[in-house]
Amino acid sequence: MTDPDALAAFVEALGDIPVLLDPALVKQRSQDFFWFSPVLKRQLNDMTAELVVCPRTRDEVTHTMAAAWRCGINVTPRGGGTGNHGQAVPLRGGAVLDLSRLDRIVWVRDGMMRVEAGAKLIDLDKILRERGWELRMFPSTKRTATIGGFVAGGSDGIGSITWGGLRDAGNVIAAQVVTAEAPPRVLELRGSETDLINHAYGTTGIVTELELPLAPAMQWRDIVVAFPDFMQAARFCLVLAACPGIDLKLVTTIDSTIVPSLEVLRELVAVGESLALLMVAPSGMTTLAELVSAHGGQIVLDADTLKSEITSGSVPLYEFTWNHTTLQMLTQDRTVTYLRSLFPAADPLALVERMRTLFGDELPMHLEFLRVGGALTCAGLQIVRFTTEDRLAEIISIHEQNGVSISNPHVYTIENGSGHKRLPVNQMGFKHEVDPLGILNPGKMRDFVPVRAPAENAE
Ligand SMILES: Cc1cc2nc3c(=O)[nH]c(=O)nc-3n(C[C@H](O)[C@H](O)[C@H](O)COP(=O)(O)OP(=O)(O)OC[C@H]3O[C@@H](n4cnc5c(N)ncnc54)[C@H](O)[C@@H]3O)c2cc1C
Repeated sequence: MTDPDALAAFVEALGDIPVLLDPALVKQRSQDFFWFSPVLKRQLNDMTAELVVCPRTRDEVTHTMAAAWRCGINVTPRGGGTGNHGQAVPLRGGAVLDLSRLDRIVWVRDGMMRVEAGAKLIDLDKILRERGWELRMFPSTKRTATIGGFVAGGSDGIGSITWGGLRDAGNVIAAQVVTAEAPPRVLELRGSETDLINHAYGTTGIVTELELPLAPAMQWRDIVVAFPDFMQAARFCLVLAACPGIDLKLVTTIDSTIVPSLEVLRELVAVGESLALLMVAPSGMTTLAELVSAHGGQIVLDADTLKSEITSGSVPLYEFTWNHTTLQMLTQDRTVTYLRSLFPAADPLALVERMRTLFGDELPMHLEFLRVGGALTCAGLQIVRFTTEDRLAEIISIHEQNGVSISNPHVYTIENGSGHKRLPVNQMGFKHEVDPLGILNPGKMRDFVPVRAPAENAE
């Protein structure tokens, strides 16, 4: 709990920058989708900030950070609040910094855009399409998430089958960052320097603008293919994903035991069938039909992605994929949770098959095909029929012993959530430089020790 006098001084210093103080609203804006994990639900459910600050410009962000430094107030940045790991949940009170009003497009040219960090992905994509471009990749929360939240808290998603993840070189060109110093600096990170804020949960600065590469706009087809057997569907997906001549945005395999939880889709298939969910360019449809037939599948849905996105009552196929598959399951059964795994690029399906044999119906399989460092492989977002935290830890450990890397979605620190159990680049050294008091999203960078406590800094 923050010292009330420090909080009052902070609010006064904010001047006319909009602030929310209503405890119910503040609690709501202090939460994200951490409840997907029973472990995080237990740990984070009662965490809340004491106020929400809603800056409208970069100058107001800088002003807020100067006031936070002076008054010793912790600051947790927030975009759309759709993270699954409690990234946007303040662990030590203070202020939530709601960046959703920084939503302007600075420019679009030559297959690149520069935008403010709070812009919603759905709005960005709409404007880009009018100019002949589209986002290279987006999370399945495209309709609610922000671009800043995706870069600071996400990793990959729809489009990663072609472009890889956010961490792959070239996928973030530049980031403008406001630091937590006296006075705050506005830094321009370019190229590989952007790794310092990429997936750092806002612990290494407030991202105010981003420069990202784009892809030519495509009229994507939402395609569902039914297969009598899961491994047959997975093998088809791997062959399709490796086809250099077909433009793809999404290649997903879903186990038959998950299908009854997928509204609409379950009505298209017979009991026991597994699914391939795809986004394919129109030019790939002829070859796709041949591949489907050669692998013993049947196309059961062919729809226009964009139409589904904007037509009320219809759902784009990507909202059945990535972590939306888990969400669909959770709407039917609140006891399930999920894993986030990465299979090695050399023969990934051999290990997929092995894990299916080991765990059976305890872990219904869900695969997302993607490129990692250029190599084609698949990630598992397996559903877990949760029993105990000990068993969950055991499941994770068995995967790791078998060579399946786990990005643990049941922990809230950056290090523990990464497959490598450590920070990916020199984010720690950068944090010492730009946030020496550790007021940015404190507790999320596990090994960081501030030079002194923020309260000791308060005037
Ligand atoms: C159903 C479901 C499906 C999902 N699918 C995917 C997926 O396909 N791929 C994927 O990668 N993720 C996925 N996610 C996780 C999440 O939706 C995405 O990562 C999303 O991009 C987060 O954006 P946001 O605006 O909601 O960020 P928030 O949740 O608001 O924030 C995420 C993190 O970034 C920090 N942050 C936010 N804005 C800034 C800023 N301007 N400067 C500095 N730090 C900032 C926050 O403090 C927090 O740590 C999914 C989540 C759900 C619930």
